Amino acid sequence: GIPSNAIDMIMVLEESSSSGSGGGSNVLHESTIGYQITLMGKIGAGRFGNVSRGIYRGESVAVKVFKGTDENAFAKEVEIYETNMLRHPHVLRYIGSDRVDKKNITQMWLVTEYHPSGSLHDFLEENVINLETWYNMIRSTANGLAFLHSAVAGTKCSRKPQIAHRDIKSRNIMVKNDFTCAIGDLGLSLTSYTKGNVDSGTISAKCGTVRYLAPEILNGTINMDLFESFTMADVYALSLVMWEALCRCEEDEIVAREPEEVIPYFEWSQRDPTDEVMCDIVCTQNLRPSENPEWRKHPKMKNALDVITVCWSGNPTARLSALQIRMTLEKQQMQMRLTPPSSLLSSASALISPSRE
Ligand code: ADP
Ligand code: MG
Ligand code: MG
Repeated sequence: GIPSNAIDMIMVLEESSSSGSGGGSNVLHESTIGYQITLMGKIGAGRFGNVSRGIYRGESVAVKVFKGTDENAFAKEVEIYETNMLRHPHVLRYIGSDRVDKKNITQMWLVTEYHPSGSLHDFLEENVINLETWYNMIRSTANGLAFLHSAVAGTKCSRKPQIAHRDIKSRNIMVKNDFTCAIGDLGLSLTSYTKGNVDSGTISAKCGTVRYLAPEILNGTINMDLFESFTMADVYALSLVMWEALCRCEEDEIVAREPEEVIPYFEWSQRDPTDEVMCDIVCTQNLRPSENPEWRKHPKMKNALDVITVCWSGNPTARLSALQIRMTLEKQQMQMRLTPPSSLLSSASALISPSRE
């Protein structure tokens, strides 16, 4: 390993070698991305250790630090992020990964674009939103999810597999500065390539976060042979996220719910519920997160609620696809004349242009 104060030295050496004198080859080895990042404070925690803000070439990045024992989790997430054609404005942007030696232990770093507002979960804890922001946040998330779910046909470098996320929840969605969102934490994602190459029996449907598991996963009725079964389960999880965000929405006389009550199924379940408890709530009793009675009386809120309720249907095929959610919200948003931010505009204007009112 190298002492931490060596990082500055490397940066200096790098600069001098790039000024044309050559002979920087001994530096190249230790000037990989990890050695060019200075870690600042911790910004989040998850199942696999901590996420910190780092400074890379003068700009903030997010660094997810995996411990040595989580080699598999690291390798899997890197593999997904390195899938060809994965770039999308509403999927967390991957910057790189590295193994970094610190005090004789190797850490594995996954580096992504840094979003100062943090996860949607954390954002909604601190802020209430209006319906316009709800549309921008949810539409962009559905946009990112529709992109993950879609396959792009093509030659080796220009094709993209279908990707089911399998851990959609408000903690795994980041809030960007324009109040649109980017889907992150691809660690549990399943690609149609992987699915096609292994026996369905070796894939575990019950992964992710128990509270967000779709009814067909909880009761084992999911058809594991169909890739779409996994994308339909993502849509169910997204419906819970849509509900969480709607709970924090204030519009006209409607007031936001307190953050402690914005956890799906909190009324019936403790912290870290077991699959048995969730199966009883979601499948046996067929309960769903509770509605604010004012929502249905408010024509605009009702539109949003209608999308949510169809997406948490117990019948997976009755749910909208992520693409249908995106298009439905786009249409509703235009009819209600709520303004989308520029990153969502291109598709909206394409829809506006043919009709001249
Ligand atoms: P895990 O797989 O351990 O759950 P995540 O990738 O979900 O790790 O990250 C954990 C938390 O760190 C997130 O819930 C979020 O609060 C924060 N975080 C992760 N990536 C970023 C990022 N790029 N920008 C800002 N915050 C982030
Ligand atoms: Mg996470
Ligand atoms: Mg994860």
